[in-house]
Amino acid sequence: MSDLAQLGYLVSAVLFIFGLKALSRPRTAVRGNLMGSLGMLVAVIVTLTDRGIVDYGILAIGLLVGAGIGLTLAVRVQMTGMPQLVALFNGFGGAASVLVGAATFVTAIDADEFATDTSAATAAALSVGAVTFTGSLVAFAKLQELVPGGAMTESALRWFNIGISVVIVGLGVGLVLDPGNLWLWAIIAVALIAGITLVAPIGGADMPVVIALLNSFSGLAASTTGFILDNSLLIVAGSLVGASGLLLTRIMCRAMNRTLVNVLFGSIDAGGVTVGADEVYEGKITSSSAEEVAMILETAQRVAIIPGYGMAVAQAQHAVRDLSRSLEDRGAEVVFAIHPVAGRMPGHMNVLLAEAEIPYDQLLEMDTVNPTFDRTDVAIIIGANDVVNPDARENPDSPIAGMPILDADRAGTVVVIKRSLSPGFAGIPNPLFAADNTLMLFGDGRDAVEQITRALATV
Ligand code: NDP
Repeated sequence: MSDLAQLGYLVSAVLFIFGLKALSRPRTAVRGNLMGSLGMLVAVIVTLTDRGIVDYGILAIGLLVGAGIGLTLAVRVQMTGMPQLVALFNGFGGAASVLVGAATFVTAIDADEFATDTSAATAAALSVGAVTFTGSLVAFAKLQELVPGGAMTESALRWFNIGISVVIVGLGVGLVLDPGNLWLWAIIAVALIAGITLVAPIGGADMPVVIALLNSFSGLAASTTGFILDNSLLIVAGSLVGASGLLLTRIMCRAMNRTLVNVLFGSIDAGGVTVGADEVYEGKITSSSAEEVAMILETAQRVAIIPGYGMAVAQAQHAVRDLSRSLEDRGAEVVFAIHPVAGRMPGHMNVLLAEAEIPYDQLLEMDTVNPTFDRTDVAIIIGANDVVNPDARENPDSPIAGMPILDADRAGTVVVIKRSLSPGFAGIPNPLFAADNTLMLFGDGRDAVEQITRALATV
């Protein structure tokens, strides 16, 4: 590789690193995205110009097909469908690593040019890539509700998964000690099965953790492919994805009070006792109207708005902004309480509220906002459910026991906007809806918020 190409890769790597740093703050996120894209453009140009033999015809077809699919998905996929899309992207990343690793291995074996460190990297790329591919497809199918999304508790499957992980490591050692095509196909086949059996039993509220982990795996697979191809930029970029995915996995685990081992080999349902919805709600629900809510809000000094998945479904973010502005015009202090796993992807609520141009300093993270609920007059919950379920805090038998939640129930009055008493992602009833200080405003998130804003203008 020429010095100029090495320099180009260095520029790309620096752009990736600074881009990633900028992505960690909403204010600089757009710039971060652009820097990452520019880094990738430089990387592609350098790689293409540095390689002697490139079939530009095939490349052009690949680019056109890929860009076409990417563009269609970007335009058509709703924000609520993002986790599935991310799952697919992770899976394709894993598949690419398997294809590149296998092709390089077979070529090297045929030419009898093989080094031990390359076979170790090949074993890692193939196993992690194949697990990522089928695991991501299963995650996609679950999130898209093509297959049941719940968790399985069969302990036999968990033991099978521990066993199959050991088998993959054994096959990898075999490939390193005795490089040959048979090991290669065996690793791919077993790892493809492992991806399915590892992700299949995981479900319910653990899915965000799995998506973050598969994201990390896809980076790891790319990084090991970088070792096979002796491509320093692929190693750097893959490591960045792997490390950031792992950090995100850790944050997600903490947000749900779960350990990674527990997510992978345990089940959120294990030991949990789900109380029937009738038992929780019967005779205890207080329905309200937009007019009544507006009257309560009229005298509120401090209002906390808690968005959840339902706000995304209803696309209520602009209506929510209008409500918050009209409350502020009346002298109230308005904050937005953001739970780390609200919605269906990390940062889901931040993205939607930023789209509606709600100032970043009004968005408060869970640890900051929780101590303030005691002095909050009204908490308005818009399409959130699991992230405000007090059972997580108070009921050790609950399937979500120990998951940190937003303490909305501690506000003076709680207004819950949702269409019915249906459960959220975790599939369990929420005693907050039956609490004495809770008013239920049934309806679509956007309609209900618009009605409150209109009613507020007339009181
Ligand atoms: P939930 O899934 O707990 O609840 C969402 C609620 O929104 C439902 O109860 C539903 O009730 C209501 N809703 C749906 N559509 C509308 C609408 N049009 N208008 C008003 N309400 C509506 O959401 P939360 O945000 O509280 O919690 C997120 C859950 O998702 C957690 O369990 C988390 O673990 C999980 N998860 C999070 C991911 C992430 O990365 N953030 C990824 C994957 C899962 P109704 O039908 O009655 O209207």
